[in-house]
Amino acid sequence: MIANLNETKKILAKYDLQAKKKFGQNFLIDSNIINKIIEESKIDKNCGVIEIGPGIGSLTEKLSESAKKVLCYEIDEDMIEILKDNIKTNNVKIIKQDFLKADLSKELDYFSDCENIKVVSNLPYYITTPIIFKLLEEKNEINDFYFMVQKEVGQRLTGKKNSKDYNSLSVAIDFQANARICFFVERNCFYPAPNVDSVIINIQKEQKNYDIDNQKDFLRFVQNIFQLRRKTFVNNVSSQYHINKEEVIKLLEKRGYKPTIRSEELSTAEIVTLYKDFLLTNE
Ligand code: SAM
Repeated sequence: MIANLNETKKILAKYDLQAKKKFGQNFLIDSNIINKIIEESKIDKNCGVIEIGPGIGSLTEKLSESAKKVLCYEIDEDMIEILKDNIKTNNVKIIKQDFLKADLSKELDYFSDCENIKVVSNLPYYITTPIIFKLLEEKNEINDFYFMVQKEVGQRLTGKKNSKDYNSLSVAIDFQANARICFFVERNCFYPAPNVDSVIINIQKEQKNYDIDNQKDFLRFVQNIFQLRRKTFVNNVSSQYHINKEEVIKLLEKRGYKPTIRSEELSTAEIVTLYKDFLLTNE
């Protein structure tokens, strides 16, 4: 079993390596956490799993025992060598590539005999958000994701209306998925221990029929209305677009909102409605 402190140190020493900060390498050393991830993600022998950043294989080992097939993307050549030596099962395919540059559609045939495909990863924290949005944007049947992320990022990704964690990221996720925190993970479950605690989050992609033609434009609007956090919706919209405050107030009042409302008081569906009204006045 790889997932413990001694074994992790031993493997790194054997290959004369240290964890690389530039690749966000913090290896899981707690087998209880790994078991909890497997349990939470309900992986079974019909399941295909994609893992981004397998590292020395602590999670990969357990994924390969529990799932039918595992496909890993790892950017660091040194890790590939370790994985090839240490993963003994024959249901793991390893691709040496920056996941952000990967064309997933080319690899999906690998999973043709699996009933479903999930993504389960202890993500490199420096690229958490781009990885998540890449997966959400892909047009394919993969829609169930379990990610280890930095606690504060996880709270923002799953933030709910009227909470301090609710922001443009929460809305951008909620617009196309349902997200929740599964459980907390302390920093000492990793080697080397990062400066922050972590959480496992689950994101399930869902088509929500908001009927928006230009999704990118909508997501830019979402970013703009949360731009200045202490400001009202009116101030954010009027400072980001060529529209005066009176017109924005009219938009709000038409829908029964007070002019002083802040963006964090609006749900995704409410923001969608206001965005559509905004497009009409801007035509
Ligand atoms: N899964 C291992 C574990 O839980 O112990 C390692 C997780 S570590 C937080 C992140 C891993 O992602 C590292 O192995 C790192 O080399 C890899 N990585 C970093 N950037 C990557 C990228 N752009 N594409 C693929 N893998 C990447």
